Amino acid sequence: MEIRVLGCSGGIGLDRRTTSLLIDDDILIDSGSGVGDLSLDEMAAIRHIFLTHSHLDHITLLPLLVDSIFERIESPIVIHAQPPTLKALQDHIFNWHIWPDFAKLPTLEKPVMAYETLTPGDIVKLGTRSFEVIPVNHIVPAVGYRVENLANGKSFAYSGDTSTNDTLWNALNRHGRLDLLFVEAAFSNSEEALSIKAKHYCSKTLAADLVKLKLNPRPQIFVTHNKPGDETDIMAECTQLLPNWGLKSLKGGDRFTL
Ligand SMILES: [Zn+2]
Ligand SMILES: [Zn+2]
Repeated sequence: MEIRVLGCSGGIGLDRRTTSLLIDDDILIDSGSGVGDLSLDEMAAIRHIFLTHSHLDHITLLPLLVDSIFERIESPIVIHAQPPTLKALQDHIFNWHIWPDFAKLPTLEKPVMAYETLTPGDIVKLGTRSFEVIPVNHIVPAVGYRVENLANGKSFAYSGDTSTNDTLWNALNRHGRLDLLFVEAAFSNSEEALSIKAKHYCSKTLAADLVKLKLNPRPQIFVTHNKPGDETDIMAECTQLLPNWGLKSLKGGDRFTL
């Protein structure tokens, strides 16, 4: 299983793109601005998109993605998300005002996109890849994913956007193995009050939650979704709080093989 980080920033700016992870060549997790670097052929190869939640930084290029490739694909791209996330897309994006309803285009019988609802706890199997849907604690309904390569048992998890919770950590602890963890820390400690309001981690609330992870050995942990410009501060704070954990910063363009 190949993982390509198309974008993982909390915002935009030179060399910063918002969240999108490409799994092999056919599955996306989130559809942030990183998608804009894919070629038309790479975009047309995408068959499934798993969304973590409805916020703009995670869906921003979904409308343009489906518009760019609708003449190139034979069957709909399946958008997997919780019902409130799908409803937000239908009500506020694909509503004919912001963008056409591509679940009905180019024809009702053969649309370019289709919706599939997810429930926390679901495990969706696609070929040799399985996606476990894990509820997290954000300002809108949100999930993270644990993705396993069923051919070799290797796995990674992505928290999506979240603040303090037990659900993610309990779900990860239930499995014997996790190779990689991408976990958000949107804010530095100087913005702790805002992080609580926005339901994101700051460095210290992330560090306090990471010790809930009981897996041995621990996965390689990558911190992601930093507020643009605060990347260095957030990583310095996280490293100071958990000095022996070998925490790393996730970067756009990173590639992993599991
Ligand atoms: Zn969010
Ligand atoms: Zn976000």
